[in-house]
Amino acid sequence: MKVLITGGAGFIGSHLAEKLLDRGDEVCVIDDLSTGKLSNVQHFRNHPRFHLAVETILNETVMDRLVSECDVIYHLAAAVGVELIVKSPVETIERNVLGTDVVLRLAARYLRQVLIASTSEVYGKSESVPFREEDDRVLGPTTKSRWSYSCSKAIDEFLALAYHKEKNLPTIIMRLFNTVGPRQTGRYGMVIPRLVKQALDGRPLTVYGDGQQVRCFTYVEDVVDAAIKLMDHPEAIGQVFNIGNDHGVSIAALAEKIKAMTGSGSEIHYVPYDQAYEEGFEDMRIRVPDLGKARRVIGYEPKVQLDEILERVIAHFRANQGQE
Ligand code: UDP
Repeated sequence: MKVLITGGAGFIGSHLAEKLLDRGDEVCVIDDLSTGKLSNVQHFRNHPRFHLAVETILNETVMDRLVSECDVIYHLAAAVGVELIVKSPVETIERNVLGTDVVLRLAARYLRQVLIASTSEVYGKSESVPFREEDDRVLGPTTKSRWSYSCSKAIDEFLALAYHKEKNLPTIIMRLFNTVGPRQTGRYGMVIPRLVKQALDGRPLTVYGDGQQVRCFTYVEDVVDAAIKLMDHPEAIGQVFNIGNDHGVSIAALAEKIKAMTGSGSEIHYVPYDQAYEEGFEDMRIRVPDLGKARRVIGYEPKVQLDEILERVIAHFRANQGQE
């Protein structure tokens, strides 16, 4: 199998590339290194079945060749991280919507199966947990730029489902819930790498708002295994799947846990959202996936739980200190 991964030098993409190489696939990655990093793919860069194009997916000439040469596409290239999204809303909207348009148009030209990485952000600020794939979406106004991320990814989903319906293109959508693990950087706002680094550096741990917001953290390998199973399962075509972990934790409790597990003497600082992001920023109070559909169709079960996730992330930061 020859696989194309857009965003394959990113955090999730690089773990996926590694797994696919391990099972014998040929892996082509296209990544513009905007948030991806060469160091993420360094350890398999010279693998004979690995190919890397440092290029944007908006370059249709390059994408045309890559899509024509592959059997299937994992589309992971996107603007990521709430902080980045609030700071660069134009880039977020354009990258997500135009990039997915290119991928789907070319996939339809060569009839290639596509798996699109979407996000739990599409559910917005609904509090009726757990979220099921068919649930209504609850969004804030267009004046709050956070919601542009949710909408841009929802357009990606609409487009992928439309290509399936209208042009018979095999498309699959996975909605990811707070994916974490080694190689994720805290630079774009992600809470676990950020708090772990703060704890190890002996700086205050920054908890935003009252810290009572709840998230479910999924280990990256669980996500990668699910992506491969979805791609391989005929019943997944034309469908949307939540992929995550359904055990929630408040961010305040998470900070305490990280402090204890690192043995850090850091204090916990509560930072108002207005200061952390921008005035009027709206956060989700709770986000928990219903995993029933993924369990039923692909036998999905997240294997790595929070304590083990934190142990692995802490070990990774300790081994790579000074590099982030
Ligand atoms: N958060 C925090 N401190 C940080 C970074 C994030 O308290 O230094 C909070 C953030 O406001 C959110 C949660 O942690 O409520 C998860 O944030 P992240 O950016 O990792 O993912 P999100 O759930 O926002 O997509």
